[in-house]
Amino acid sequence: MQETKRIVEKDAPLKKDDLIVLTGAGGFIAGNLALYFKKKGFTNIRAVDKKPLCEWYLHVPGAQNLSLDVSREDNCRRVCEGAVEVYNLAADMGGMGFIERFRVECLRSVLINTHMIEAAYQAGARRYFFSSSACAYNTLLQKDPKVRALKEADAYPAMAERGYGWEKLISEMFCQEYWHERGLKTAIARFHNVYGPHGTWDGGREKAPAALCRKVIEAIDTGRKEITIWGNGEQTRSFMYIADCVEGIDKIMHSDELIATPINLGSSELVSINGLLSKIEKIAGVKMERRYDLNAPQGVAGRNSDNTFIQQVLHWEPKTKLDKGLAETYAWIQEQYARRKAGQRVGIG
Ligand code: NAD
Repeated sequence: MQETKRIVEKDAPLKKDDLIVLTGAGGFIAGNLALYFKKKGFTNIRAVDKKPLCEWYLHVPGAQNLSLDVSREDNCRRVCEGAVEVYNLAADMGGMGFIERFRVECLRSVLINTHMIEAAYQAGARRYFFSSSACAYNTLLQKDPKVRALKEADAYPAMAERGYGWEKLISEMFCQEYWHERGLKTAIARFHNVYGPHGTWDGGREKAPAALCRKVIEAIDTGRKEITIWGNGEQTRSFMYIADCVEGIDKIMHSDELIATPINLGSSELVSINGLLSKIEKIAGVKMERRYDLNAPQGVAGRNSDNTFIQQVLHWEPKTKLDKGLAETYAWIQEQYARRKAGQRVGIG
């Protein structure tokens, strides 16, 4: 069926005291995004997460922090009241260990976007952002570690990651149809693995960069310089530093060319998991004895971000080199590890 083409009317300029709502703000990316907007001078930030406030990774000074479950319609209405822009980054998610084991939880995140987008629309919000994922791409295209980078068209024909990836695809479609049928300006970014300070680094939901940093720090601390890698270590990925991620979200959200158009937001610097560990060993100044757990969850064989489209539209792409971002992440996890060991309270982010 032919899509209705809508004329994009120009927004009034965003004022510094316009209300910005962020969900998932007790977690990694939305917490850092709230801080980014605060540093840009925005004064009216509503940060929302279902976790109790004491478990949030970041508290942004001056923000209105609400501990609410946004898979519930009534809470979404309250959260979106008065919002000019809504950034929905709440999801039940984690690294491969989590998304392969808890597919039902991942699928249930569809409730979050379903209620949040309707509430944003009803509240008259000007723009709505949805955090999608590279897990929405067809898994059949990702069977080789020497993967061809994924471009936006590769999501269809659909064969997404079971559970988590399918939830992202259907939520993307909600965002597309709220624009086409109802005129809500939506933005959809497909993140490729994000890492950096104030992210999850222990507890089972952490992703490979944080998990490997922690394992190396633990090994140095205990003197047992062994490490177990999930799979044969040849699987490849790209990793985007958090500072690039929040800048990219801002650019994508405010681009009229990208309304209701899924776009990759990821680094195109491909590395194998073995290569990632070598970089961390270099930062830590240590060599580990590697063991391989071939039965552990490992996801697709290879995945990279094709950045042709983002370069073409935004003349920009994530630029932080993995070596630099990893050094900062390692230092931050090292500090968290030491604080926890000293008996201080740390979030696992
Ligand atoms: P995160 O787990 O650190 O943060 C997500 C937050 O959402 C958590 O704090 C969680 O408590 C909250 N949440 C979950 N269900 C909720 C609910 N019903 N109501 C309110 N809050 C709820 O994850 P993140 O890395 O910050 O991811 C943010 C978004 O980006 C998610 O949508 C995720 O799927 C997407 N994404 C992340 C990555 C990555 O590498 N981190 C990659 C692709 C996509």
